[in-house]
Amino acid sequence: MTIPETGQRDRLHPWCSMAGDAPDLPLSNALQSALETDVLIVGGGMVGLTLAISLAQVGVRSVVVERAERAQITAAEFDGRATAIAFAPYQMLQAIGAWPGLAPHAQAINEIRVSDGRLGAQPQRRVAPLFLHFDHHKLGDEPFGFMVENRHIQTGLWSAAQQRPEITLCAPARIEDLTCSAGGVRATIFEPDNTPAGSTNSAVGHCVQARLVVGADGRNSTVRAAAEIGCNVGSYDQTAIVATVAHERAHGGIAEEFFLPAGPFAILPLADLPDGTHRSSLVWTETTATAKSMLALGATAFQNHMAERFGDHLGDVVIAGPRWSYPLGYLQADRYVDEHLALVGDAAHGIHPIAGQGLNLGLRDVAALAEVLADGVRLGMDLGSAPLLNRYQRWRRFDGLVLLAATDGLNRLFSNDVTLLRWARDLGLAAVNRAPRLKRFFMRHARGTVGAMPRLLKGEAL
Ligand SMILES: Cc1cc2nc3c(=O)[nH]c(=O)nc-3n(C[C@H](O)[C@H](O)[C@H](O)COP(=O)(O)OP(=O)(O)OC[C@H]3O[C@@H](n4cnc5c(N)ncnc54)[C@H](O)[C@@H]3O)c2cc1C
Repeated sequence: MTIPETGQRDRLHPWCSMAGDAPDLPLSNALQSALETDVLIVGGGMVGLTLAISLAQVGVRSVVVERAERAQITAAEFDGRATAIAFAPYQMLQAIGAWPGLAPHAQAINEIRVSDGRLGAQPQRRVAPLFLHFDHHKLGDEPFGFMVENRHIQTGLWSAAQQRPEITLCAPARIEDLTCSAGGVRATIFEPDNTPAGSTNSAVGHCVQARLVVGADGRNSTVRAAAEIGCNVGSYDQTAIVATVAHERAHGGIAEEFFLPAGPFAILPLADLPDGTHRSSLVWTETTATAKSMLALGATAFQNHMAERFGDHLGDVVIAGPRWSYPLGYLQADRYVDEHLALVGDAAHGIHPIAGQGLNLGLRDVAALAEVLADGVRLGMDLGSAPLLNRYQRWRRFDGLVLLAATDGLNRLFSNDVTLLRWARDLGLAAVNRAPRLKRFFMRHARGTVGAMPRLLKGEAL
């Protein structure tokens, strides 16, 4: 296949949107050809979009191909989760100019409280007397991070990406016939299978050519599969029930994680609504069988089970909105790179949400890959060249493995009711709580300000 040199901004297929609020352009006959770019990013989720915006800072062009429609991704019904963005990734979002879109919806996390326990008589659950308490003041004025609802993160990132002339957003779309070789990357853009009937299909067969393809397409990555990169994958037989709750008293920016025998029950502070309603995001982990029965309950019964675990420290509490569920598992790709190809975010690794680190890990990939590519641009190197990609893999894969092992270990240690383990972990929590140095070490981890930090994570320019 011969791919003509194009890359003009007016040579885009009908689903591509561009900088500013320019309307989608009609496809002219002359454009039954190719889009040329530097990096093809498959997956316009939180990680893929952050990468595109980061690369744009150094003039690297990208085409982002996202399966879902923008309106779908940013709709309230699409994703009920909220994410704890640690302080270092927050600094990156500041550095790339994406934070202002998220800031109005962000709640600072000022304290973290971890405790172990069992269900007690309603409404007061039974908490072990030994627990762990992190206060951000022990490290300085800055918070541990910020809680933001996923749909607000997606909306903010999408808007920031639309402002950049270097980024071409294609959604809803998917790629096929991906080939990566010494000559670079080629793929064909198609409509996704589930595109509503009646929508135009005139872009079928359009090509995109790039120096590098990045798989940011989540756990079931098609890019990873196309490159035949194997992965270590498994299920925890746990499901996270997620809901937003409204409560009587203010949370004070305290994130609470209460370990119950079936898994963690996390109460994460959200920004108050404009009418002053105090809210938190609930991530309630149960065995998959129990979660199914909980989710099948009527509103009152479900509310009662929730209240039994929630406790009464925030006063009256009610479920505000739908309940969501997410089956939990882990994944680690055998490699993060291949010829002219890199994996980032959940396409490369998936971890248990017990420590709220999955997206943060993905954003650390983004910061490292963006730095490696920016250095490559300055040196005039091919963005898909092996030395650059190997540097990225060396930098990131170990961190992914360590966090997978740590979250897996924590989940096994805490999600059970074995008496000896219960004593050991309660003593462990108390010991860390009384050891200031160790405590500071864990607090810096929670903030993400440890290890060899890429420039963006330090809030510096790329
Ligand atoms: C209950 C729960 C709570 C969590 N809480 C936190 C937290 O507090 N903090 C934290 O850091 N992490 C948290 N995580 C983890 C976090 O949600 C994920 O790590 C993060 O969403 C991964 O982002 P991603 O962009 O890599 O992948 P995804 O979010 O999966 O995005 C992938 C994108 O690619 C698109 N896509 C998929 N396939 C294709 C294709 N073939 N072609 C085109 N596009 C495609 C999808 O539509 C999607 O938009 C939590 C996870 C769970 C389950």
